Amino acid sequence: MSTTELPVPNQSELHARLHEALRAGVTKPQYELWFATLDVAGTDDEGLHLTVANPFIRDWLSTYYAEPLRVAVRACTGSDQAFHLRSLPAHDSGESEAPAAVRSPVPEDLASTNRQYFQNHSDVVLNEKYTFDNFVVGPTNRLAIAAARAVADAPGKSYNPLFVHGKVGLGKTHLLQAICHQALRSGRALNVLYLSSETFVNQFIAAIEHGDIDRFRHKYRGVDMLLVDDIHLLANKDRTQEEFFHTFNHLYNAGKQIVLSSDSPAAEIPTLKDRLVSRFKWGLEAELAAPGFETRLAILRRKAKDRGAEVPENVMQLVAEHVDRNIRELEGAITKVIGYSQLIHRPVDLELAHQALGLQPGGSLRPVTGIDRILDVVCRHYGVKVGDLQGRRRTQSIALPRQVAMYLARSLTALSLEEIGGHFGGRDHSTVLYAIEKIRTRGAEDQPFGQLMADLEARAQR
Ligand code: ADP
Ligand code: MG
Repeated sequence: MSTTELPVPNQSELHARLHEALRAGVTKPQYELWFATLDVAGTDDEGLHLTVANPFIRDWLSTYYAEPLRVAVRACTGSDQAFHLRSLPAHDSGESEAPAAVRSPVPEDLASTNRQYFQNHSDVVLNEKYTFDNFVVGPTNRLAIAAARAVADAPGKSYNPLFVHGKVGLGKTHLLQAICHQALRSGRALNVLYLSSETFVNQFIAAIEHGDIDRFRHKYRGVDMLLVDDIHLLANKDRTQEEFFHTFNHLYNAGKQIVLSSDSPAAEIPTLKDRLVSRFKWGLEAELAAPGFETRLAILRRKAKDRGAEVPENVMQLVAEHVDRNIRELEGAITKVIGYSQLIHRPVDLELAHQALGLQPGGSLRPVTGIDRILDVVCRHYGVKVGDLQGRRRTQSIALPRQVAMYLARSLTALSLEEIGGHFGGRDHSTVLYAIEKIRTRGAEDQPFGQLMADLEARAQR
């Protein structure tokens, strides 16, 4: 019984015993698929340390094979030792790619069956570029990406539904398709269906017209993972909402994964029925918000590299400062610059970028006025200190100049709301937005105040 009577096995013995126990405990395909890379890294008073080739396998084993592992550990150590699973650091070449030993057990035929189903049922072709690897991660999208990855790796098990919302051009379609790509080649049989909610509406109407609603239902209820892009387009479509409600319930109750995207949070979709709103919030609501400056730069670097173009850092910065609310436009701007350079056979530099983007030669676009200049002008006019504007005090004598400075920062620089907040003691974007709106409204209603704002604006630009 007692382990102390047993000679302490060395690492390779442990390894052999563990694998022997596992082979006995799970089926051969399971063993080959999931345990081939399992290794014993050592033992200490915390228990047995095990490694596998990558985080995916680690999570999969912890989620689905904890019990067989526990039994096997017990069989090979003779006790209920704790064990710890860790994934090995990624291979040096190509950080995102799994080593060959891990890729091989994913049955190719399964992936191709999955793809076949997808092609036969979804009316879109997935964009090959819309993968997780190509999705640049930053503070404003990290949660959404982590959730999307979890959902792709373990459909129906983590967040259900996953509801992703964000304004146009911030990556909703990219993220949903990345889930599709990953799920299709996950090594499990999965019926994945991806469509725009417009397609759902159109097919529903057609099904009613042709009297084959049963076939329609059959199609949507036979899937393991349903991804509906732009669900906000169900606004004002009462009957379709009703139908979608039933589809949702059917899939949800069967433990199937549902992923939705929308241009606003569920509760803000106009005329969306309450019972749908509440269901959409059962899982996780994650936002894709506009990326900050650093992330925009990272995205630009990625896009330039993809296009095999040499783009100097100062040009990237110009573009990142200039386009701050929409990643599609960000892509468009760098594409324009690269295209223009190829057209006129000149390497990309600041001057060329200005020409390509239609900015005044030599000048930069909006960021002519720096935040420092604005702070300086505002502080001088109101007789306050920069530190006051950045501090927490809310007295009117500080709050008004602070709001004015935020307003000027918005109209004179290319900074995003979040970045402006950063210059004022880390205030969040809603506070900044509130300040800007307040000043704008007052300027429109109160003529002398409006004039003062115009004066300050002119002074800051001098
Ligand atoms: P949406 O569906 O929200 O309107 P898309 O998914 O169509 O936005 O994204 C617009 C473009 O921006 C796409 O080309 C997409 O690849 C790109 N994009 C969006 N977010 C990112 C990101 N985080 N990293 C890299 N590219 C991105
Ligand atoms: Mg989209």
